[in-house]
Amino acid sequence: MPETKILLQESEIPERWYNIMADMPNLPAPPLHPATGQPVTPDALSAIFPPALIEQEATRERWLEIPEEVRELYRLWRPSPMYRAHRLERALDTPARIYYKYEGVSPAGRHKLNTAIPQVYYNRAAGIKRIATETGAGQWGSALSMACQFFGLDCTVYMVKVSYQQKPYRRILMSTFGAEVIASPSDRTQAGRTVLAEHPDSLGSLGIAISEAVEDAAGRADTNYALGSVLNHVCLHQTVIGLEAKRQLEKAGEYPDVVIGCCGGGSNFAGLAFPFLADKLTQGKALRAIAVEPEACPTLTRGKFAYDFGDIAQLTPLLQMYTLGHTFVPAGIHAGGLRYHGDSPLVSQLYHDGWIEAVAYGQTQVFAAAVQFARTEGIVPAPESAHAIRAAIDEALKCRESGEPKVILFGLSGHGHFDLAAYETYLAGDLEDVPLSENALAEGLSHLPVVR
Ligand SMILES: *Cc1c(COP(=O)(O)O)cnc(C)c1O
Repeated sequence: MPETKILLQESEIPERWYNIMADMPNLPAPPLHPATGQPVTPDALSAIFPPALIEQEATRERWLEIPEEVRELYRLWRPSPMYRAHRLERALDTPARIYYKYEGVSPAGRHKLNTAIPQVYYNRAAGIKRIATETGAGQWGSALSMACQFFGLDCTVYMVKVSYQQKPYRRILMSTFGAEVIASPSDRTQAGRTVLAEHPDSLGSLGIAISEAVEDAAGRADTNYALGSVLNHVCLHQTVIGLEAKRQLEKAGEYPDVVIGCCGGGSNFAGLAFPFLADKLTQGKALRAIAVEPEACPTLTRGKFAYDFGDIAQLTPLLQMYTLGHTFVPAGIHAGGLRYHGDSPLVSQLYHDGWIEAVAYGQTQVFAAAVQFARTEGIVPAPESAHAIRAAIDEALKCRESGEPKVILFGLSGHGHFDLAAYETYLAGDLEDVPLSENALAEGLSHLPVVR
């Protein structure tokens, strides 16, 4: 039997990130200032981001060097393993060859440390002492608090109140890594106080928490803001995933026909797919890349390609992206990391121009795939990652029909050890699908800003 686990040497950790903006025929439209509607100047961004990240946000340089100190920390868990899913293939009786790249081996249990580390590195280099951020269920917050601890920065995390109260484990993880964790909405910011004045019992949302963190960072010279997805520099940092995966498949003598990733803000999908899409953009490779989202938050498949805010208080720049509207609050599905109203402008532009595909699934189908994967491959996947598994299984089943031995690569962005309550609900038969109604879709889109 061919190899199951494809490993790289430490020396094979990429030395450079891949910037897809070098190869895109159409670049994303420029971000606009939330108040003036004019393109944002680097100066305006410098209130919340360090210079290196502002530059990475816009550069068209194809390769950007990964600082040695960042590679040193990447060595804690990188290169991450790639597996051939032999037992899953047999269970599906498919001629397809299925590979997955596993980011759950990181100390944060997911891909987010790939960008948390360089973001904190560049902030420290700029003399910043403290970082403010938001977190939903605590996935980004725990990665960032760990990275801040490594570099000696303070970390304040505004955590969506409902998760703060109901999902204590990642909150405790963040405290363990030394972060200050605040339930959002809070009385620490104007944005939080405004919400609380109107809705004292508000359980919060990611949009509100972003508003609080941005306000906190903008108001203090020693503090910057950090975002765990969506932005160009985040997608850039995540390309270590795809660059390693390319090398691993090369070792196995393979090249993928299909690359699949789950898509919340788009960063793990981008990280895996962009280095392969480079071959499609520059050499015309016939490669399919599929972004997978929940039907409760179907940003690419049902959203609108338009300028929108990243947050409810309209503090962030306007980004042109697929969006369900900045006021949209998705149903409380278990894949919390996929509940964002917008999407990466890079992923959005590539989708708009037909370079990538998108598909949406309900959570019962997703958990069925997650359980089948756990039982064949031995890894309990994060509910987010299970969206990619669902799509990979469906592609493999199509191969069973057609008899084509396609090579399928998917990203397993994290493990589900903090999500076992969701598994319990599924196993008890109590999990429900919550597709987005046409009315809720129209309501969310009716609040898109008018851009002249
Ligand atoms: C946060 C998260 C996601 C969603 O974020 P992207 O930016 O779309 O990658 C996906 N999977 C896991 C495990 C996550 O923690």
